[in-house]
Amino acid sequence: MSEDRKIEETIFSKIIRKELPSDMLYQDELVTAFRDITPRLPTHVLIVPNRHIPTVDDVTADDEAAMGRMLTVARKIARDEGIEANGYRLIINCREHGRQEVPHIHMHLLGGADVGPMLAKRD
Ligand code: AMP
Repeated sequence: MSEDRKIEETIFSKIIRKELPSDMLYQDELVTAFRDITPRLPTHVLIVPNRHIPTVDDVTADDEAAMGRMLTVARKIARDEGIEANGYRLIINCREHGRQEVPHIHMHLLGGADVGPMLAKRD
């Protein structure tokens, strides 16, 4: 790993370790889920691997269990929130062009209302 891609912990690691408060909905040995601090829809939950993996581009085969768990936990939380019948959107942003702000992989679970078109159309 080059110097300019140093792995530095983010606020999410502190939330996972419960050193910082969050509205945590779920935690197991692989992943943690907590409500986004700036919800864009009635349900806006972040599902993160407990291990600090900065971006999707840093995922390896060793992370497959955690990546899969993120999906099964998304499904569980969608059911707990009562949004599964109408559906929801899962988003993972990656690096600059993906507009990723926090360099610790996180899956956004968004629902409880129509999320709108997939992306704004470019001119
Ligand atoms: P992204 O742009 O995909 O990196 O999304 C980062 C998300 O983290 C944003 O939706 C923020 O609102 C959310 N966020 C930042 N800090 C916190 C925090 N302390 N607790 C919960 N969500 C946070």
